[in-house]
Amino acid sequence: MASADGLPPLRAVIETHGLAPKKSLGQNFLLDLNLTGRIARQALPLDDATVVEIGPGPGGLTRALLTEGAKTVIAIEKDPRCITALEEIAAHYPGRLAVIAADALTVDLAAVAGDGPIKIVANLPYNVGTQLLLGWLTPAVWPPAWESLTLMFQKEVAERIVAAPGTSHYGRLSVLAGWRSRARILFDVSPAAFTPPPKVTSAIVQLIPRENPEPAPLAALENVTAAAFGQRRKMLRQSLKRLGGEALLTRVGIDPQRRAETLSVGEFVRLANAI
Ligand code: SAM
Repeated sequence: MASADGLPPLRAVIETHGLAPKKSLGQNFLLDLNLTGRIARQALPLDDATVVEIGPGPGGLTRALLTEGAKTVIAIEKDPRCITALEEIAAHYPGRLAVIAADALTVDLAAVAGDGPIKIVANLPYNVGTQLLLGWLTPAVWPPAWESLTLMFQKEVAERIVAAPGTSHYGRLSVLAGWRSRARILFDVSPAAFTPPPKVTSAIVQLIPRENPEPAPLAALENVTAAAFGQRRKMLRQSLKRLGGEALLTRVGIDPQRRAETLSVGEFVRLANAI
């Protein structure tokens, strides 16, 4: 029996196309169209931007995005086994779904999506999720091409993305995400929702770009956060010794005895501008 969207149920798609999940590609599929619908609705409206989906797999989230009104979806998938299944969805929604068989780490979003605004929605492969996010947070020009990111991560990574200073999850990822975006966790997704179930709980995170993040040289911000959080239990005068240590900290008005996790994003930006 067909699903509500007139396409075969996802289990049948997986069977027909031989899409046994591969661990090496981070394949934990979502087969419940109610859940994929809920994820897609977090990025509404979907008709005012090009929606880019990374790792569509058998197409559960892709179908939800189209059902929820996406005008155009560009789906980038590395696993060649999934392409025929995705082309069948494209044929069902003429002119609305473009499937790109590629590694998302190598794709230039602006080149594939054109000049207009982009919304990125994805159940990311856990092995490259953080790397993709860092790329989206640090493009050559700001504001970025995307107007929202709605992404599934392992919950522990989601907590690091949204963490505030003074909390145990606060680290490099929180500083970069907080510098350039407003990030929040929308809801958790239990392992039981996936096929196969991962070992840990996941969470949907949404990031909205800040229009005017405080200017900071990216390389310096990366250096200072790497040094500070690389030795997060040490006082900053020690962990930042190589970058100027006590003199640098005093110059920007930060107590050299503080530790990395107590610094606000603004204080990291001040340090990056001073080194
Ligand atoms: N969106 C589907 C879903 O929700 O059921 C699949 C999500 S699964 C967690 C991750 C997907 O990303 C898989 O289909 C996998 O083949 C694909 N993938 C893994 N690495 C990729 C990469 N570097 N570029 C593009 N897709 C990738």
